Amino acid sequence: MTFFGRLKKMMSFSSAQDVKEEGAGKIEPGEKVHGRPRVHVLATGGTIAGRQVSTGPRYRAGVLDVEALLGAVPALRGLADYSSEQMANIGSQDMDELLWLKIARRVNELLADPDVGGVVITHGTDTLEETACFLDLTVRDPKPVVLVGAVRPAGALGADGAVNLIDAVTVAANPGSVGRGVLVVMHGGLFEARDVTKVSSSSLLAFAAPNSGPLGQLVDERVYFGHRTGLSPKRPVFDVSRLDTLPPVGIVYGHAGATALPVKAMIEGGYRGIVSAGVGSGNLHRDVLAALADASGRGVAVVRASRVPSGLTLRNVEVDDNRYGFVAAGALNPQKARVLLQLALTRTRKPEEIQKVFDGY
Ligand code: ASP
Repeated sequence: MTFFGRLKKMMSFSSAQDVKEEGAGKIEPGEKVHGRPRVHVLATGGTIAGRQVSTGPRYRAGVLDVEALLGAVPALRGLADYSSEQMANIGSQDMDELLWLKIARRVNELLADPDVGGVVITHGTDTLEETACFLDLTVRDPKPVVLVGAVRPAGALGADGAVNLIDAVTVAANPGSVGRGVLVVMHGGLFEARDVTKVSSSSLLAFAAPNSGPLGQLVDERVYFGHRTGLSPKRPVFDVSRLDTLPPVGIVYGHAGATALPVKAMIEGGYRGIVSAGVGSGNLHRDVLAALADASGRGVAVVRASRVPSGLTLRNVEVDDNRYGFVAAGALNPQKARVLLQLALTRTRKPEEIQKVFDGY
């Protein structure tokens, strides 16, 4: 059955507002279970926990609590035993580094528990890819960690939260998902954290992996892994257990007629790193290039990425990275290059070392 066919089937479930019952599959945190995998659901908000409102904006993200969210999808009980926890209830446009650090610590703690088979994180779609990338770089345990969101809030025509949740729990409970890094499940597609990105702000088919394609797909509560990429043995993993904050890193967006002003403001603002979302293969307007060269000379780490949705930003193509001490982002889009640069800066400020970190991911 297609994603939309399954969506229709799921729509026969009650909406999250209506159903709130204790599930046989639900267990309390810390409770021991045997036989079936236990999936722990961490809720952070987003449209998947959103509700339509009658006045003002069409809906509000991060309204329903995790109990209401899971209670609305009785089919989850058939897939795995699950426990749940509310970590936040925000629109993911408000996601920040403090919450990232908190989530990473909690996920590491949960996965260290032998009774937890995997973790599902419900999240808004706006910054879902960045949280996925952050966790991919800060969680060492090979057990599955799966992020999931929805494009339509509960109760809306074509609400996709229930089917996406079912898919996410299916993936988290599947032994084949172990050792694949942090995964993202949306609209029947399974994606790796490194490449997945939001590609539509309105369509139900909102996510894609422009360089690598999806890792697999979900059909009728089964996951089919399409290809085995395997994680790079050089993948950097950062220990954030003792960090309270991350170094400030900004993104400057490239466009015709770009000026040096945003770069100068970042240097003055004490940013430790700047990611350029350049044009084409990460190219820069000459004024921006001069400002970034100046930033690099002052010890600010500069990473070149591209605003183009697919392809690679490689070293020394049209920009002389060696001369300016720049780092090339490779396959990472600007927002993920920013995540990796923040983490890399907790280890080193040297461009050649930072380049090695990027090359390893
Ligand atoms: N603004 C929402 C969020 O990211 C959008 C969504 O979830 O689709 O939380």
